[in-house]
Amino acid sequence: MECGVRHIVLRVYNSLTRKIEEFAPLRGNRVKMYVCGPTVYDYAHIGHARTYVSYDVMARYLRNAGYSLFYLMNITDVDDKIIQRAAERGVHPLELAKEFERYFMEDLRDLRIESVNLFARASEHIDEIIDLIKGLLEKGFAYETSTGVYFDTEAFGPYGELSGREPEELSVHRIEPDPTKRRPQDFALWKLRPETELGWDSPWGYGRPGWHIEDTAIIMTYFGPQLDVHGGAIELIFPHHEAERAQAEAASGVAPFSRYWIHTGLLTVEGEKMSKSLGNIISIREVLRRYSAEELRYFYASSHYRSPVEFSWENLEAASRALDGIESVAQEFRSRDVSSEELDDRGRGLLEHLRTGKSRFISALEDDFNTPLALSVLHDSLRFTARYLETNDSVPEEARAEGEAFFALVNSVLGVFSGGLEPSSQLLDEVLSLILNVRERLRSEKRYELADAIRSALDSLGIRVEDTAGGARWRSASRRVVRR
Ligand SMILES: [Zn+2]
Repeated sequence: MECGVRHIVLRVYNSLTRKIEEFAPLRGNRVKMYVCGPTVYDYAHIGHARTYVSYDVMARYLRNAGYSLFYLMNITDVDDKIIQRAAERGVHPLELAKEFERYFMEDLRDLRIESVNLFARASEHIDEIIDLIKGLLEKGFAYETSTGVYFDTEAFGPYGELSGREPEELSVHRIEPDPTKRRPQDFALWKLRPETELGWDSPWGYGRPGWHIEDTAIIMTYFGPQLDVHGGAIELIFPHHEAERAQAEAASGVAPFSRYWIHTGLLTVEGEKMSKSLGNIISIREVLRRYSAEELRYFYASSHYRSPVEFSWENLEAASRALDGIESVAQEFRSRDVSSEELDDRGRGLLEHLRTGKSRFISALEDDFNTPLALSVLHDSLRFTARYLETNDSVPEEARAEGEAFFALVNSVLGVFSGGLEPSSQLLDEVLSLILNVRERLRSEKRYELADAIRSALDSLGIRVEDTAGGARWRSASRRVVRR
């Protein structure tokens, strides 16, 4: 991850082989990554956010390490759940989908996720879906019945391999029960529907695609028969990813469809999976009204992406406090004078500690994106730094530069610092002290309402004003940024 010199030692867990493998893309340093996007009929929740933030960290890491990453995400806008919800609301399904797609994009932006190169809607890939189904029929991997077209799971030998299910287990999970199917585990590629419903013409009649074929067709449209990383939450592994893999490998004859299958662990709330029936769904927007994106991202980074994570407001508050601790040491470090004198032993020790910290931080990420380990390395470095600052007024130039590079790296991969840890700017300092002087004047004239308005306006920009005996001071804070 050092500038110019890339040591490819990334290792990732591959769900298909159930092993940690060395990461080697299909072609050079180019990485094609796909992550299953949302079915847009409701607000996205903090379980979804966990998944999308995890892949955002991977994407940021890969780009930082010098890989040329193309990150594709689909938008499932053709789906029975959307159609049902639209009918309840009396709107067109694609209108409803557009509305929730817009909310999803807002959520991504608020979560500081900007890593996706392309979003692809299922409704805009119907021709590609139909072509793919035609190919599967021609090759004998699909069959037509009076209700639609189905994938013949028996014809695809490795079916069940990805999720590790034995043949007898596959039929237990009854997907789309339909008496015309040859066996319960066969899944729909095209469902015939009445013309009053959302649908398209096809060689088999009017209807709409099944969910799994939408994703496979989108991937193959942009990436061809193979990609490097296929991601999604662990609960999608069966039947969704099993089906995606079967469709792609059967149609193209090329294996593996995805070089690495990466899955994120489940998020629970009070030990339960979030569900409508339990009434414990927490939306992304609800959390971001109380905590900043940086705090939430820090909370997610404290668990390994494959581990289950238990969400609670207490756990989020604890993450927030830990992040606060990091930021206050980092800011103290950056506010100290820089000394250009020759390094003494203590200065050399600090420099060495920061340098080692940065490289251990990188090693932790290279170890299957071990963010909790990376964060503990960061804490360790900051504890050492805090001890140094207790007994030294200034910071050696070299150590300052090393520290800045370390914080910048942490932020560019994890996105856990707000603007406060961007390189400090003299102009910003001067503008802020000007504003604070005006505010002091207002306070001395007892015009508190106006003074408070200035303070809360600064607060919403992430700048925390503290009135101390020696006058007002400001510090940058990612915490609880008021949403606009
Ligand atoms: Zn998918």
